[in-house]
Amino acid sequence: MINEVSKWIEETVSQYIPHARKCSELAPDLRGCYSEEFLDNSYFVVTENIPKPQVLSQDLNLRNFITMDVDGITYKNLYFVKPQAVNDIALHVHELVHVYQWSILGVQGFLERYITEVTINGYQGAPLEQMAYEIEQMFRISTNSFDILSIVKQRI
Ligand SMILES: [Zn+2]
Repeated sequence: MINEVSKWIEETVSQYIPHARKCSELAPDLRGCYSEEFLDNSYFVVTENIPKPQVLSQDLNLRNFITMDVDGITYKNLYFVKPQAVNDIALHVHELVHVYQWSILGVQGFLERYITEVTINGYQGAPLEQMAYEIEQMFRISTNSFDILSIVKQRI
């Protein structure tokens, strides 16, 4: 199943990136929390219809998770965000944490770990998800700059 989903993700990302917006346009609002180089290589698409892989798994938790309605989803260095959430800069911070997690773990590695975590701990309790929520929250309450890539690297 991981192989099918990986293939779908690779295809989806290469299909959407030519029409996507570059995260470097968000730099003025991100207070230097992400490096320029990282933002230059990260992309987002604003859409009501976030593409999701078909999963033929029997696992109900997993199926519910994949069909869950969320404001943002990250695949590799590209994330999709709903129009009503696009101005929430902390949501971009959250999805960019996932972009870096994908780049550290690789596509197969990220999927294996994420699916295992969600199956065991549920969506909210999955450590990769908690890391993204905590950093999002730090960004919301802080006015300072902090190096998010170092935090993710240390915690992963
Ligand atoms: Zn998340």
